[in-house]
Amino acid sequence: MPLEIIRIPALTDNYIWLVHDPASGDTVVVDPGEADPVLAEAAARGWRIGQIWNTHWHPDHTGGNAAIKEATAATITAPAAEADRIPTADRLVAEGDTVMLGDHAATVLETPAHTAGHVTYHFADGALLFPGDTLFAMGCGRLFEGSAGQMHANLQRLAALPPETMVYCAHEYTLANARYALSTEPGNAAIADRLSEVELARMNGLPTIPTTIGEECATNPFMRAVSVAQFAERRAAKDAFPG
Ligand code: ZN
Ligand code: FE
Repeated sequence: MPLEIIRIPALTDNYIWLVHDPASGDTVVVDPGEADPVLAEAAARGWRIGQIWNTHWHPDHTGGNAAIKEATAATITAPAAEADRIPTADRLVAEGDTVMLGDHAATVLETPAHTAGHVTYHFADGALLFPGDTLFAMGCGRLFEGSAGQMHANLQRLAALPPETMVYCAHEYTLANARYALSTEPGNAAIADRLSEVELARMNGLPTIPTTIGEECATNPFMRAVSVAQFAERRAAKDAFPG
């Protein structure tokens, strides 16, 4: 049975992902920046949260850890390299580790740069990716604790995943990203079309996430950067881009 995935809008522009395995009955919440909407959603569905997976230590991804753990006794999986910043963690993971949701295995990919220990969770079977703040729709995370070279390598690695891979980003940043993307590649029709779609969706209050690896390869200027230098130039330009 496929996993069921529910989007929970939280804080200003975060998405928290609730992933339920109907076969085992286990449920994991990915990057709970807050607890209340997560506990409410799980209760409404009759799902018991057994696990929390964190991609990185930022409070908008871990702020709900303690309260969810207290309410559900969920175990918390977090990057080993950020153990000191995620004191609620029960299991520490690093590159190549496997985390299970029922019989579904997710591989841990180290994707440092937004934070030094940032990880991405990848279900190869089922083609699902939880990249936290590494990959966004038409964008990528800011380089708070790492280099352009690291982020470029992360995105090249994710770009090599099957194009149908569903990408569950942690923020709704797509409209601002799309505007910057079109300014970078004004002749790219796929970007222009996607900007129109995103404008319409956001005008109607609709989410633009999940995305797919294939869509990102076609329209994400950071994924499409052909060198570290070009990536670095685009990342700096986006940081200074209005809106
Ligand atoms: Zn972050
Ligand atoms: Fe974040």
